[in-house]
Amino acid sequence: MDKNIPYKTYLNENEIPTKWYNLRADMKNKPAPLLNPGTLQPMTAEELSGVFCSELVKQELDNDTKYFDIPEEIQNFYKMYRPSPLVRAYCLEKALDTPAHIYYKFEGNNTSGSHKLNSAIAQAYYAKKQGLKGVTTETGAGQWGTALSMACSYFGLECKVYMVKVSYEQKPFRREVMRTYGASVTPSPSDTTNVGRKILAEHPGTTGSLGCAISEAVEVATTSEGYRYVLGSVLNQVVLHQSIIGLESKIAFDKIGVKPDVIIGCAGGGSNLGGLIAPFMGEKLRGEADYRIVAVEPASCPSFTRGKFAYDFCDTGMVCPLAKMYTLGSGFIPSPNHAGGLRYHGMSSILSQLYHDKLMEAVSVEQTAVFDAATQFARVEGILPAPESSHAIRVAIDEALKCKETGEEKNIFFGLTGTGYFDMVAYQKYNDGEMTDYIPTDDDLAVGFAGLPKTDL
Ligand SMILES: *Cc1c(COP(=O)(O)O)cnc(C)c1O
Repeated sequence: MDKNIPYKTYLNENEIPTKWYNLRADMKNKPAPLLNPGTLQPMTAEELSGVFCSELVKQELDNDTKYFDIPEEIQNFYKMYRPSPLVRAYCLEKALDTPAHIYYKFEGNNTSGSHKLNSAIAQAYYAKKQGLKGVTTETGAGQWGTALSMACSYFGLECKVYMVKVSYEQKPFRREVMRTYGASVTPSPSDTTNVGRKILAEHPGTTGSLGCAISEAVEVATTSEGYRYVLGSVLNQVVLHQSIIGLESKIAFDKIGVKPDVIIGCAGGGSNLGGLIAPFMGEKLRGEADYRIVAVEPASCPSFTRGKFAYDFCDTGMVCPLAKMYTLGSGFIPSPNHAGGLRYHGMSSILSQLYHDKLMEAVSVEQTAVFDAATQFARVEGILPAPESSHAIRVAIDEALKCKETGEEKNIFFGLTGTGYFDMVAYQKYNDGEMTDYIPTDDDLAVGFAGLPKTDL
């Protein structure tokens, strides 16, 4: 152990950042605006306000304001479970026998078990402040729904969650946590919405997808008095809230006098990665420092590495605005054997633009290799990681093993987004040797691409 660098670097409560950092302000090429699917014109604040809370619409559309004050109520909530520790993975380094120095920021130290609470509490706060009755949302693996139900119960808001059917059935305990926090949970697609009934008629027996669940949640929000829709990833506002992860990390690294060489994060819709890298990418964009930044995605849902950079629907029912992003097409559904999360068809417009401008890299990994890494990590570092987070672990380990060959003492930093306690069905499959990999063929992907809207933008 290096005596100058502790296992865990914590910040004091009064060192928790009081402003979120808006990475867009430092981007030369701004992320493309959301478009109205009817007119193909940029969505106005007024149009968006029918779906989202007004204050969140402002954050969504603001590409210029560098810092947003974190309201005191949210700061106080953050104090209940933040700061999250920056951990030096001494035990993993030893197990790998690598000269590399491995660090991770652990966001799983709260009941929802992931970073999603950072944005859920902000979104619930603005909904409450606007005087709304409640919010609707979708959830895939269940972390977002859990985080949002916690946030809503804290502020006394109703919360209606549409949960992807396959997860609803595989993760009864997630569902019960949400219900314990007072949320109503409906498996999607359901017969409670027009779009759900339509999807069920077209695809009987479907196990659902995030895209379907989003369509249902948006329909309920826009047809219920005093309701708005909230989303746990992909949007600019979510990346803004998640900047707390990177800001805290940066302060902690500065405290111990370390500069990460490579920053690695898993990418589903891009919110944790966008937040993790925000201040580092800001320095890179301003020419103050350089970092290698790597997004990791599942080989079974490869939006960055095999997707197209195009305007696409954010949902299956095509009721949401169009976003320009790396996408597999809104009709894309990962193969049923996929157990590792990160199954959204698209990617944050901010990260998509940065990737397009070659300011970051992306790699895809297969799920059995991800669970190999998860198990190796769990056994030495004491934390049972979420499958999503384990994508980042996989690549961090691979980087550390490369250092072993070259003898380089690189500082490798990755985001450990959550715990895997509710993912034991996936771990069970892995432990029983029943986990398989499926990489979509070009023909599989062509089906999703065929459904891209023809905008030429
Ligand atoms: C939701 C989730 C992710 C992926 O979402 P992003 O928006 O890409 O961050 C990753 N890890 C965990 C634990 C999650 O719950």
